[in-house]
Amino acid sequence: MNALLQPEPTDADLAPGAEARLHQRLHQRLHQRVHLHLRGAVQGVGFRPWCAQQALALGLSGWVRNDAAGLQCELQGPAAALQAFTQRLRQSPPPLARIDALEQTPRALLTGEAGFRILASDAGAALATGLPADAAPCADCLDELFDPADRRHRYAFINCTHCGPRFTITQRLPYDRPNTSLAGFPLCPACECEYRDPMDRRFHAQPVACPACGPQLALWQPDGTPIAGVDPLAEAARRLAAGQILAVKGVGGYHLVCDATQDAPLQRLRAAKQRASKPFALLLPNVASARQWVELGTEGDDDAARLLASPAAPILLLPTRPGVAERHPLIAPGLSDWGLTLPAAPLHALLIHELLGRPAGSAWRETAQPTLLVMTSANPGGEPLVVDEAEAVARLGGLCDALLVHNRPILGRVDDSVRRPMRAADGGSVAPFFAPFVRRARGYVPDPIELPGVPADAPPVLATGAWMKATVCLTRGNQAFLSPHIGDLGSAACRHALVEAVQRLRDFLGVRPQRIAHDLHPDFFSTQHAQALAAEWGVPTLAVQHHHAHAAAVRAEHGATAPTLALLLDGVGLGDDGTPWGGELLRVSNAGFERLGHLPTLALPGGDRAAAEPWRLGAAVLHALGRGEAIAARFADQAGAGQIARLLARGLNCPPTPSAGRLFDAAAALLGLCPVQRHEGEAAMRLEALAGDHPATPWPDAWRIDADGRLTWPGLWTHLADAMDGPTAALAAAGFHATLVAALADWVAHHARVTGLHAVALGGGCFINRRLRNGLVAALAERGLTPLEARQAPPGDGGLALGQAALALDHLLGAHAAARLS
Ligand SMILES: [Zn+2]
Ligand SMILES: [Zn+2]
Repeated sequence: MNALLQPEPTDADLAPGAEARLHQRLHQRLHQRVHLHLRGAVQGVGFRPWCAQQALALGLSGWVRNDAAGLQCELQGPAAALQAFTQRLRQSPPPLARIDALEQTPRALLTGEAGFRILASDAGAALATGLPADAAPCADCLDELFDPADRRHRYAFINCTHCGPRFTITQRLPYDRPNTSLAGFPLCPACECEYRDPMDRRFHAQPVACPACGPQLALWQPDGTPIAGVDPLAEAARRLAAGQILAVKGVGGYHLVCDATQDAPLQRLRAAKQRASKPFALLLPNVASARQWVELGTEGDDDAARLLASPAAPILLLPTRPGVAERHPLIAPGLSDWGLTLPAAPLHALLIHELLGRPAGSAWRETAQPTLLVMTSANPGGEPLVVDEAEAVARLGGLCDALLVHNRPILGRVDDSVRRPMRAADGGSVAPFFAPFVRRARGYVPDPIELPGVPADAPPVLATGAWMKATVCLTRGNQAFLSPHIGDLGSAACRHALVEAVQRLRDFLGVRPQRIAHDLHPDFFSTQHAQALAAEWGVPTLAVQHHHAHAAAVRAEHGATAPTLALLLDGVGLGDDGTPWGGELLRVSNAGFERLGHLPTLALPGGDRAAAEPWRLGAAVLHALGRGEAIAARFADQAGAGQIARLLARGLNCPPTPSAGRLFDAAAALLGLCPVQRHEGEAAMRLEALAGDHPATPWPDAWRIDADGRLTWPGLWTHLADAMDGPTAALAAAGFHATLVAALADWVAHHARVTGLHAVALGGGCFINRRLRNGLVAALAERGLTPLEARQAPPGDGGLALGQAALALDHLLGAHAAARLS
């Protein structure tokens, strides 16, 4: 790039007749040609038109095309313009693009090249990055959407190369219109022009559509009868304002929507969905509106706000502002966090616009607005999301007053993604801003998770997860593709969704897995399906212990190949000794793992039932403290309290569990919270909410680590049992978290000294607990240890398949290496 530094032509060059030659030499000195090769998420995200537009603006000639490995581009022109191009590439690439690698190679100048061309993809080359995730409407599309002069004014299916549905509308690859749910909507001449024009921002936007040629909205009665003669948007908004509940077809499935500021629809929704206390997600117009309700960080600390407004449009769990949760107790009963999302589809923005009385201009999109809508996934009782109209009428008709539907089919069922932003208390020496996934789905699937350290030509493997929060994972080379969240495999519909998810990933990636990993539990449907597929394909299986898989998922993301420690805190998973595990400290290598220790066990009176009834664990603690006679009085409102005391006394049907989840349940029950859980994790979430921001120091003499590295609770339970309820309960909840953090950090540090390992993989659903995670990350760092966290996959069971797949890859690659050596 230093052509400009070469000596300028001298007067001697200006001899008669040399003018043409001089001109050519000057041209050659000032012009350069460069070849760019980009890898990452660079296909299907509007990169080629972006290159063409930048090249035109900068006066560069050349071409761009997709190839098997990413995107290739050649540019020729003044050095300064080339520099400006690469600078824009780095600083403001297309919004949905992600550049993982950029190689630049100088090339010889071409003469006679005119303009910039978009070339067809390499014939026959399988595209490296097939399909982008769904993206919320971009600012340009929103400008048009609310511009009365625009031909897509108030058109719910507006999109462009930088935004719109992708994964959810695609039947098969390549990602071209005939393979999407827009196949049945031939383009009108105006849309066709935009689609074909390389300089248009809708060039090759597969779902491009307009009111003349695209899908349409309709409003239906609960029984599926169309409501004729109304503007569906205006009428839907009128009904929401009047307190009605609507089923609304979203990006990856139906939602139930109502006005969250009115009590009546909230109460009806809770009764209808039989979810007495499960928190409802909320839809808001913009970040400024969100700030009215939740803490979104202050100036210079806008990571959470940026994530909220990102194209993935996840639901973020954020702490409510003082007084907010108390004034709106029906939204997330007993919790201090609310789950918020901004419009993921133009339809959501349109509903808000209607509810606000169709304000003109764009100011309303930036300023705080009063609109607050419940938008909860409309899947009754853990069933997969409802995606089609007949199903919606059958399953949701009884829960809603009307359905806002449309005729663009959803081909990929995808829930909303949920993330929980957090920031370590020590100012973030480890991860300043961190937003682990509670659920990874819309907006993130099917983005691959890179596996550092795995060769690019590694054989593909499949993993089928476990039982709760099921996902499946398929790898291709050094990339892992995690399916969207499926749900718990207790229902036939979820089991069917798992089979479907495996097939869909295989169709997209076009690979044949050479090994299939599954959980150690023989009775899980995921295990049985893995075995059936393995038999069908004639490939071996690999059974993976649950907590080993949690550790492997985190290690894989970080590319850890050397042995590490792993602290796994979750509900339950089958151990390799045949007993249930759930609070584990492991030494993990690629070859296997060693159980260094586990949390002190608690009795589970009544077995599995205790997981749903935390008071039973509270009773077990009282029994262990020798206060069995207090059980009946302490849990007097629970039928069977006296009987449980007798069970405990005789040790009947009281299997021991080291589960961290049950530890939180027991603490919650002893502090008078949530004797019976109405949704998974409720007790732990309420315990964390109760602790709030109360400062706390660890209780003295609450834990001990013996010479063998065993962790025990000499005083933990006494503190909780004595705290009782009342005003001291909040302080006790905070004290419990602080004590647990210090005890776990000491325990890990002990084993770090013994093993000489200093990196600690943190896994399991408990790491969604902000207070536990923030405290533990800081406490481990203070002790000179390096925590490794789950960043791209959920730390809970939703990320398990990633770990299983990573271990299957290790086995396969290890076997290959061994075969080469012998
Ligand atoms: Zn757009
Ligand atoms: Zn059109």
